[in-house]
Amino acid sequence: MSENHTSEKNNRDSARLPFRAGWSYDPAPESAASIKLDKRYQLFINGKFVPPAGKKWFKVWNPATEQVLAEVAKGDETDVDRAVDAARKTYRQVWSQIPGKERGKYLFRIARLLQERAREFAILESMDTGKPIRESRDIDIPLVIAHFFYYAGWADKLDYAFPGVKPRPLGVAGQIIPWNFPLLMAAWKIAPALAAGNTVVIKPASSTPLTLLKLGELFSDAGLPPGTVNILTGPGEMGMALVRHPGVDKIAFTGSTEIGKLIQQNAATTGKKYTLELGGKAANIVFDDAPADQAVEGIVNGIFFNQGHVCCAGSRLLVQEGISGELVRKLKDRLETLIVGDPLDKNTDIGAINSGPQLEKILGFLSESDEQGFRIYQPDCELPEKGHWCPPTLVEGVSQSHRIVQEEIFGPVLTIQTFRTPDEAVALANNTPYGLSGGVWTDKGSKIFKVSSRIRAGVIWANTFNKFDPTSPFGGYKESGMGREGGMHGLSPYLEVSE
Ligand code: NAP
Ligand code: MG
Repeated sequence: MSENHTSEKNNRDSARLPFRAGWSYDPAPESAASIKLDKRYQLFINGKFVPPAGKKWFKVWNPATEQVLAEVAKGDETDVDRAVDAARKTYRQVWSQIPGKERGKYLFRIARLLQERAREFAILESMDTGKPIRESRDIDIPLVIAHFFYYAGWADKLDYAFPGVKPRPLGVAGQIIPWNFPLLMAAWKIAPALAAGNTVVIKPASSTPLTLLKLGELFSDAGLPPGTVNILTGPGEMGMALVRHPGVDKIAFTGSTEIGKLIQQNAATTGKKYTLELGGKAANIVFDDAPADQAVEGIVNGIFFNQGHVCCAGSRLLVQEGISGELVRKLKDRLETLIVGDPLDKNTDIGAINSGPQLEKILGFLSESDEQGFRIYQPDCELPEKGHWCPPTLVEGVSQSHRIVQEEIFGPVLTIQTFRTPDEAVALANNTPYGLSGGVWTDKGSKIFKVSSRIRAGVIWANTFNKFDPTSPFGGYKESGMGREGGMHGLSPYLEVSE
């Protein structure tokens, strides 16, 4: 890797670059002093924090500092039973009995309390995940709040959303979420479930449970009836016990395709409803008539911010042959200016990789690429000594059948391929097992419609990337999953809508 990297660097015209390594902003860190964490967190069942049946706990680390943030409860099957029982009882006796208008009031209250405590949640999310504070403060937490507000509005309008079919809640929803957007994925799942009249048992990823546990405290502050949302921390096996539990009526999962398939096998024979939001390998297609500087910003936003820990990340750049030289040069220049480091610093563009194993997975892809002779480019940047870090990385010289083009890396790594015609671009974009998202960059509106309608992916952005809104449905084709979250589409998986 280093040889390719160095030789390429030496060939560059250093005078052309406005910024060189060593150039930096003054540090502007958010203070973690206001974050009050308990030493030990318990399970949130029936409105109370209670110890796990097995009396075991595990540590949660800050991936940027490798410091222990807290210990959290290691739940097991017995705890799943307790949580599902609590959720079932609250569903029958309280939550399904109160009018939609009242359910909506609770959701509005949760959204408002989150607004008041937005800064605290953003800082804790950055400490727990390693993502830059700019992301958690400007994207994650505002979107979390927007989702609670949005679904609060639907709670008393379900009959209008699904006219003539008398929509009914399903009962208890079992939800399992990943570590890349812990609080946002919780909001995507909890808000529509509650608006539709279901109660919830939710499991966060083991590396990032803290903001969801804080949300449990906030639910109590909001007066949410005990048992409406139950939070279980614990390993994957506990997640599977939730999937298999006969008292669970619907499963919602976001995570890897591998676990998604296991969940599908288990749910398929039980009659449970399920939605799966899995991996992606999105192509960002840049045509020769695209505004190049805008495209470069979109590419950078699509894969490098949030360390590429985004299922819909634009991890493959497909650029039309005539402009590939210029575009890649601009991209490399832009990479030189990206700041990798302290997630709590407001200047940081790229934070820490979420865990040691995830970093190893990314580095495995890069050393394999090196062995295969691909050209690897990384900007000059000093990485902090402690923590898990990967600089933004470009990989050129790849072709469609290579593993790095086909498989999800979930890191700040962008492969680059060129194409000549729109047909070729569409064929390359569609040729992976995934179909979650994509991007098209061109000056011509007609080309946007023509190309995007032929890409088999749930979301296509045109002349922008990674834009989210609670009113828009999100989800994938092929191995990227099934079902949609967000918008009105995100309500129906939590409702019986047959006559
Ligand atoms: P994962 O194993 O699929 O984890 C996602 C969630 O599923 C976590 O809460 C996890 O709990 C839980 N889980 C694990 N094994 C389970 C099982 N057998 N039954 C039920 N639930 C189970 O994903 P990961 O291992 O964290 O990451 C692996 C790869 O998945 C990444 O490299 C990336 O490619 C992909 N990924 C995709 C997304 C996405 O948004 N689509 C998000 C994260 C990761 P624990 O945390 O306790 O294991
Ligand atoms: Mg896993």
